[in-house]
Parts: sequence; C-alpha cells; structure tokens
Amino acid sequence: MTVHFHQAAIIGIGLIGSSLARVLRRKGLADKITGAARSEKNRQTAVALGVVDEAFESPSDAVQGADIVFVCTPVGSIAETVGGIVSALKKGAIVTDVGSVKTEIVRQVAPYLTDSFSFVVGHPVAGTEKSGPENGFAELFEGRWCILTPDAGTDAKAVAAVREVWEIAGMKVEEMSPERHDKVMALMSHLPHLIAYTIVGTAADLEKETREDVLKYAAGGFRDFTRIAGSDPVMWRDIFLNNTGAVLDCLQRFSEDLTVLQKAIRQKDGAVLQDWFARTRKIRREVIDMCQAQPENEKLLIKNKG
Ligand code: NAP
Repeated sequence: MTVHFHQAAIIGIGLIGSSLARVLRRKGLADKITGAARSEKNRQTAVALGVVDEAFESPSDAVQGADIVFVCTPVGSIAETVGGIVSALKKGAIVTDVGSVKTEIVRQVAPYLTDSFSFVVGHPVAGTEKSGPENGFAELFEGRWCILTPDAGTDAKAVAAVREVWEIAGMKVEEMSPERHDKVMALMSHLPHLIAYTIVGTAADLEKETREDVLKYAAGGFRDFTRIAGSDPVMWRDIFLNNTGAVLDCLQRFSEDLTVLQKAIRQKDGAVLQDWFARTRKIRREVIDMCQAQPENEKLLIKNKG
C-alpha cells in the first residue's frame, strides 16, 4: 500500500528539502506540505514555486499537525532542530532526517527521543553543488541510494514508511549501521570534497601569473575536478566537524598513498606510476560500469555540471 500523509513538514527548504517536497507533491503523497526556513527569501521562494503550501520561520509552527517531518537542515543543526520541535509534534508523528553524517546525529538526537514520536535516521545519497529551494528538482533522487540507519529500538512501521517515501522518489534503499555509513561516505564523498576544496585553495595561493594561467585554462580538468568545491560551505563545514574520525582515517590512508606517488615521481620511477594508474583506471571503469545501471542519474550529473 502506498504511504499517504495528511500533512508533511519540511524543515530546511533547501536543495534536498525542496526536491523532496516536489516529490511529495508530484506523487500526491501528502494533502498538505508545510515548511520552515529562517530566511524570508527562502520562505517566499518556496511558496512562490509551489514547493510548500505554507512556510514558517519557526520549525515548531511548521510541524503542527504533521504526520511526518523531514529535517533537511545542515548536519550541525539537526539535533537542535529535533529538540526544538518535540513539544509541538503530533502524537505518533514520524521524524526523519537527511543529514550526510549519521553516527554523531544518532548520538546528538538520543536525549530528545520520547515514546510519543518515532525518529528514523536517513541519508538520501543524492545532490548537486547547488543550494536553496530554487535549485531543487523532483528527479534528483532517481536511481540513487538512500541509506537508513535504524537500530533495534526504531519503530518498524516508521522505518517502512520512510523507506517507501524514498522508494517512490526513485531511490534504492539500504539499511546499515551509522558507523558503516560514515566510513563509506568519508571515502566516497567527504574526502573528494576536501581534496576539491584544497586544490582550489592551492590554485588561489599561486603567484599571480600562474594563477591567471590556471583560470584561463580552467575549462579542462581543473573545472571538472573542482565542480564540487562550489558546494555550500556551511553544509561541508558541518560534515567535517561531525564525521571527524572516519574522515581523518581516510585522509591518513590517502596521504600515505600520495607519498608513494610523490616518491615515484621524485625517483622517476615510471613503473610504479604506470602500474598505479593502470590499476586505478581499471577500478574507475568498473565503478562507471556499475553507474551505467543509473542512466537518468548520469544524465542529471552531466546536466548539473557548472
Ligand atoms: P541547502 O540547500 O543549503 O539547504 C539547507 C536549508 O537549511 C536551507 O533552507 C536553510 O534555510 C536551512 N538552514 C541552514 N542552516 C540552518 C541552521 N543552522 N538551522 C536551521 N536551518 C538552517 O542544503 P542541502 O544541500 O539541501 O542540505 C541539507 C541537508 O541535506 C544537510 O544535512 C546535508 O548534509 C544533506 N544532504 C545534502 C546533499 C547535497 O549534496 N547537497 C546530499 C544528501 C544529503 P534558511 O537559511 O532559510 O533557514
């Protein structure tokens, strides 16, 4: 049976929140969609675009009467947001989040949990480097993974309802532990963003003449490689502040690998370099082959390249 809600509330009507609201609307999953954003501009945009029916400054006002609440704010504000809405929630409501880090959210939200609502920890692994309600689109989630990290105490019916929403959005849903989620994301998403942000900083610090050349020829690899460095600074600040252990572990391994390549370059050891590039090219091709099963997603990725 398809899930249906009298009212759904979206707290944080940005890229993810507004994309989800568009899915709820398009698929007729909620009779009414309310939203909360701190800035008047985001509230006005979300209402003008028809993403939500009503937008409030206070999350507590937005969740009044809602059967399901999606918390779509940056990772560092999710627990505080949940804590702030608890007393305004309808009895039996489902609250779920979309944060890119899970272990810390589970730990931070725990003190606010009560028997009168269910909390389902989730992460739709889909996005672009854009932010805000104007950049959302309902197809964002199609063909992508959504990871839920419930524990033994999480209400099974609530998990099933959240799973169904993401499946209707076009996602493939998996459950795993928060720790495993954070390890996987540290390598597949967080480290690449850190490297992209770093290399743009390195380019900016170059002496003037070289920097001008970099900018002039940026249409090539530099532009493609650094696209994700255009992502929202607050979102990424919060990810690194909350997935510290897993990111530092990956960074350590990455630095060790980089040192191997650095030594090979200094010693002009072509065999080491060629072996390395051949092995990693093969892995990259395998990864892309796996992605071929997601044609829509690939199209969107190309469409969203800045
Ligand atoms: P976004 O477009 O910047 O939207 C974030 C929204 O949260 C905005 O509407 C903002 O509106 C509000 N907000 C910002 N700071 C806040 C705070 N301290 N307290 C309360 N509200 C705040 O970001 P997004 O890309 O949708 O990301 C939202 C969440 O989704 C994050 O937890 C992120 O980790 C997760 N996520 C992102 C991606 C991605 O690639 N973008 C993918 C998967 C999951 P106001 O400033 O008007 O309040």
